[in-house]
Amino acid sequence: MKTVIEPFRIKMTEPITLISREQRIEALAKAHHNVFLLDAEDCCIDLLTDSGTGAMSAQQWAALMLGDESYAGSRSWKKFESTIKEITSIKHVFPTHQGRAAENILAQTRLRPGDVIPNNSHFDTTRANIEFVGAIALDLICAEGLDTGLIAPFKGNMDVEKLEQCIAEHGREKIPFGMITVTNNTGGGQPVSMANIRAVKAVLQKHDIPLVIDACRFAENAYFIHENEPEFQDKTLLEIAQEMFSYADAATMSCKKDGLANIGGFLICNNDKWAEEFKNLLILREGFPTYGGLAGRDLEVIAVGLKEALDYDYQVYRHATVTYLGDRLEKMGVPYVKPVGGHAVFLDSRAFLPHLAPLQYPGIGLVNALYVEGGVRSVELGSVMFGKRDADGNEVPAPLDLVRLAFPRRVYTQSHFDFLVEIISEVWQNRDKIPGHKITYQPEFLRHFTCHFQPMK
Ligand SMILES: *Cc1c(COP(=O)(O)O)cnc(C)c1O
Repeated sequence: MKTVIEPFRIKMTEPITLISREQRIEALAKAHHNVFLLDAEDCCIDLLTDSGTGAMSAQQWAALMLGDESYAGSRSWKKFESTIKEITSIKHVFPTHQGRAAENILAQTRLRPGDVIPNNSHFDTTRANIEFVGAIALDLICAEGLDTGLIAPFKGNMDVEKLEQCIAEHGREKIPFGMITVTNNTGGGQPVSMANIRAVKAVLQKHDIPLVIDACRFAENAYFIHENEPEFQDKTLLEIAQEMFSYADAATMSCKKDGLANIGGFLICNNDKWAEEFKNLLILREGFPTYGGLAGRDLEVIAVGLKEALDYDYQVYRHATVTYLGDRLEKMGVPYVKPVGGHAVFLDSRAFLPHLAPLQYPGIGLVNALYVEGGVRSVELGSVMFGKRDADGNEVPAPLDLVRLAFPRRVYTQSHFDFLVEIISEVWQNRDKIPGHKITYQPEFLRHFTCHFQPMK
């Protein structure tokens, strides 16, 4: 097989620089050893997130100039609405400024305290919006999804038996809707099969419970279905997406992912009563229903981006970048979550740094070592982000300590990835020198964003 090339050439460049090792050490110390507090300029390869960090195409930049900034009923809104309807066939479309705004409107209008919302895995903002109104967010990920070394094609699937049990236990009245997240971001960017979406839908339908899809990476998920479910090998990604959405009664979307845009989101539904309530809260929180917190030009850009994300060659290339890194790590013997996800590679920092106890935060040690070695910014998904306290107030480590390398869309080329591999290799060879960290300051909520660390020497 020939090399999979980037299916684009570059017409505009943005400089990146690698500041010196001494400067990186100084910058990290100034940021209290928390990479969230670094200046982006001081990061050479920034893999903090794939959210809103992608590069727009020439078509998107051209569409931006067509933006109709009329307050109501703009041409750009029409394009946005008709594109989403073409992909989803869902009746009511509401633009929002990003995904969590759609989640907020859904949770505020549909949920009551004590309600239970099952999902394969809730994303953190989804969980937070559900818990904020006093409802309970349940993760019903399949058993395969919890085994980081197991190679299986659809580790993002929901456990359908657990869903049945959940309904039997809580009753239909307590479950205003069920959710499924494609791909499963919190579960390592692992995909969900069409068979699983159908099975989840069948169970929910039997109990008259609507299905809401968290659709942030719907196009990446469609690609995995195309590759790994034989029934779909002759279908286009658009056709696969259309079938996925045919099972949904509603969906939330962050266009910062598979909208290939830097900002934006939407909330869609079929039910007229839901739509009425969404509309009223949208006007209060986001804006008039034909722009919903976005500029006309953003609506244009998203309309183009949603279709580009369904381009097969683009998805082949995107997946090739992720597997390229996975294959190199395999050769080096570096521990990572298998198989690689759709948008990221997750290093297993607990296995990478066995000399550190979980509460010495191996994820932070690895993140900081990658930064010092090569100006690479990654993020800890482990005991700092997900750590809890027991009844006596003692800190309990998270089940896993991972470091996520998320890939912005269409931003980095193969040489950037080769450089990244060299940096990981360097860090791997010197891993026994990486220190643990302790926390010297932490806020009450979402501590990972702003807490301060001190390396333990
Ligand atoms: C990013 C994301 C969201 C939230 O979207 P924002 O645009 O960041 O508010 C929700 N669910 C999933 C699965 C996501 O990846």
